[in-house]
Amino acid sequence: MADTRETLLSLTDYSVAFDTPDGVVQAVSNLDLDIAPGETVAVVGESGSGKSQTFNGVFGLLARNARTGGAVNFLGRDLLSLSSKELDKVRGRDMAMVFQDPMTALNPAMKIKRQLAETLEIHRGKSRREAEREALQMLKQVGIPDAERRINQYPHELSGGMRQRVVIAMALLCQPKLIVADEPTTALDVTIQAQILDLFRDLTQSFRTALVLITHDLGVVAGIADRVAVMYAGRIVEEGKVDDLFSRPAMPYTAALMRSIPRVDREAEAVEPIPGRPPNLIHPPSGCPFHPRCRFAEEKCVRERPPLGEVSAGRRAACWFPFIDAEAGTGGENALAETANV
Ligand code: SF4
Repeated sequence: MADTRETLLSLTDYSVAFDTPDGVVQAVSNLDLDIAPGETVAVVGESGSGKSQTFNGVFGLLARNARTGGAVNFLGRDLLSLSSKELDKVRGRDMAMVFQDPMTALNPAMKIKRQLAETLEIHRGKSRREAEREALQMLKQVGIPDAERRINQYPHELSGGMRQRVVIAMALLCQPKLIVADEPTTALDVTIQAQILDLFRDLTQSFRTALVLITHDLGVVAGIADRVAVMYAGRIVEEGKVDDLFSRPAMPYTAALMRSIPRVDREAEAVEPIPGRPPNLIHPPSGCPFHPRCRFAEEKCVRERPPLGEVSAGRRAACWFPFIDAEAGTGGENALAETANV
């Protein structure tokens, strides 16, 4: 269970920009987000919303043309001010990242045993023997069948689901305080997806590891997250507890995102793509970046950008006309019609 009194990772006024021949791409803008120990936070949004770049920046994995701003405080240190050598020590030991493609993290020419053991030898100073013993134990813990045989194989000899388990095992070996998983189940079939998510749930509970799940799959979010942050055009536009946000989205973009995704409990015809296209981040729209696609947009939305403000207890949204009114406790007629549709 998350302990909301402590903060493990804190992003403050955090920005990521890329210098390109066409201009500056403002991928992430003035983002504030806190993650507590043991908490699972889902970061959702369309592709290009900045969700992956936010955490690539936290891990120091951005392309060379990137610039970061603001502060990223993790375990009392500002990661943005660390040298790459210092950051290397933190990565793998205190925080780990799991990508959609497990081969990003695995060396195809090295047996699983060596890859896992090396992590412990480097980050925890374990002896080779001890590291290999712990590696085998972890493979069993993440549910790799016949682990004694599998540990002596190369990555290509394993199925996609098994490779992803190996990567998760590698991420967990040093018992990090934070795991960021970027679309970790997208490439897997539905049964394996469910197993991997169960695995994350069990492991975050037993190790009190905080998990940030970057995904476009709201089904995944509902099953595992405590809290959701919705991103649009490089900003958080809504944030709150998963049940609250799903049952009553406060912001038109969140509602539109939910309507655009197929759900098992709804007719296929009820799926409604979000009109228009995600904004150009070199020349973003004025005011609210969602206004060209928002059916509730008014004059003020075109002129002024809404701040991310509290709309109810524990709930933040960036909208001039949220469906939830903090003072009245509800929204207007449009809001009620909209939320009934979600
Ligand atoms: S601020 Fe205006 S344009 Fe933006 S989401 Fe709210 S109603 Fe729509």
